[in-house]
Amino acid sequence: MAWRSSGTSNAELVENLWRNKLITQPLVKSAFLKVDRAHYAPSAPYDDSPQPIGLRATISAPHMHANAVESLLPFLLPKLQPGRQTAPGVASVEGLQGRPRRVLDIGSGSGYLTHVLAELVGETGVVVGLEHIKELKELGERNMAKSPEGRYLLDTGRARFRVGDGRKGWAEPKPTAAQPGVGGPAATGAQAETETEGKDEEGGWDAIHVGAAAVELHEELVRQLRSPGRMFIPVEDADDWEQYIWTVDKDEDGVVKKQRLYGVRYVPLTDAPK
Ligand code: SAH
Repeated sequence: MAWRSSGTSNAELVENLWRNKLITQPLVKSAFLKVDRAHYAPSAPYDDSPQPIGLRATISAPHMHANAVESLLPFLLPKLQPGRQTAPGVASVEGLQGRPRRVLDIGSGSGYLTHVLAELVGETGVVVGLEHIKELKELGERNMAKSPEGRYLLDTGRARFRVGDGRKGWAEPKPTAAQPGVGGPAATGAQAETETEGKDEEGGWDAIHVGAAAVELHEELVRQLRSPGRMFIPVEDADDWEQYIWTVDKDEDGVVKKQRLYGVRYVPLTDAPK
């Protein structure tokens, strides 16, 4: 499928992904149009193929990013208050109200997908890009800072990059001062870090994306999913040495459903190099 969706500009690449039905949802298309892959892929940014970004990492192919975002979309968009409906065909998430979304992008690498996800979660949402290599965490930050939109996401804390082992998931440190909106009097001289102020810092993740192939469906990641929540993860199959995308859904009652979807090729989710 790699040759079919390549373009000569970001807009052409996205249009081709759309024409080939790799992107089917207008909100996903508009998020992809907002993020220029040239800021993230050092070579052939508009080819529908993975590209090396150094340190044995690759930026995944655009059609894989598209698949992942399409799959996770119901868990990315701001949740509407009961009784409110999204206008049909609405092409922007700005202005939608609801419970803040929390999204974890494990193996954030170039930072491209972290940026796309952050465009979708709306003003109140948070996306954490997690890398086990410090240089790649910094690469993600540098790439995102190339555009005014990306700098805004970093400055507001809607997108954050962290260093850690993705197999263990991630918990953001709690703000130190009285948390706004948790009952007590309006925080006087609130000392909550500005980047977390007004954000929902409760634990767990509405959506977890894993950008490297795991040897198993790590239970800790499933545990960190909210109810409801969804994880999109490539996993090595011990029987045939192939990798497959799995989705793990946790429903409102905490019931977990795992589904094997299709074969893929990702770099492995490993120990950090010494
Ligand atoms: N989503 C990224 C994919 C980068 S490749 C992109 O499209 O740019 C996979 C990434 O997973 C690499 O950057 C690698 O450093 C990272 N990785 C591998 N094992 C990891 C682990 N245990 N914890 C966190 N990141 C890991």
